[in-house]
Amino acid sequence: MLLYAVDIKVKRMIAENLKRLTERVGLASKRAGRNPEKIKIVAVTKTATLDMIKQALEAGITDIGENRVQEAQVKFLSLENQGISFTKHLVGHLQTNKVKQAVRLFDLIQSVDTIKLAQEINKQAEKISKYQDILIEVKTSPEVTKSGFKPEEVIEVIKEIEGLKNLNLKGLMTIAPLVDEPQKVRPYFKQLRELLEEINAIRILSMGMTDDFEVAIEEGSNMIRIGRGIFS
Ligand SMILES: *Cc1c(COP(=O)(O)O)cnc(C)c1O
Repeated sequence: MLLYAVDIKVKRMIAENLKRLTERVGLASKRAGRNPEKIKIVAVTKTATLDMIKQALEAGITDIGENRVQEAQVKFLSLENQGISFTKHLVGHLQTNKVKQAVRLFDLIQSVDTIKLAQEINKQAEKISKYQDILIEVKTSPEVTKSGFKPEEVIEVIKEIEGLKNLNLKGLMTIAPLVDEPQKVRPYFKQLRELLEEINAIRILSMGMTDDFEVAIEEGSNMIRIGRGIFS
């Protein structure tokens, strides 16, 4: 009985969060003269329980992002065993020794941040005849703690990746610095969009999290990665 009440509460919270999120995505798109249907919401589930993830998927979420391979494996397997299907994203830093597992698990690896990692993903993908979709992670802000390529390296990195036949480069990803005011990250998002415009044939611009997705949308993001805004 008690469990049931908790379930209902979680279900309602997630449904309300998603409703509010969709409204805000709509408004930000409108301000930017963009079509909100072209903006994919990836629910980042690193703090969410299995039940919460299930509720989000039932409420219309189609894409799930995790930042750890091991945890993703456990959660994804459990959901798939219940017959639930969804698109799987890796958004966190990937260690070389986890690549084999990651390539078997994820539809899109968003966090390719070194050439060495790209080469290892290519090698493991080749072994299982997979064409692995990836994004290049770009460090648009000068913070030392962030991983990713420098913006000025990206063109060269793309040339390298073109030689890796089992990689399918889909776009760029960035994580903005933590700031007190989302407007402050606008220049970083703008920079990534301008970089994407220089590069033809790649389409995904993954930028914007709970605190800054509206600015990201205004600056051209078409994939936002939302954790707290859905699950808390
Ligand atoms: C945790 C995380 C998110 C989601 O962050 P929120 O601020 O909770 O929306 C998005 N992207 C990456 C890479 C993350 O690690």
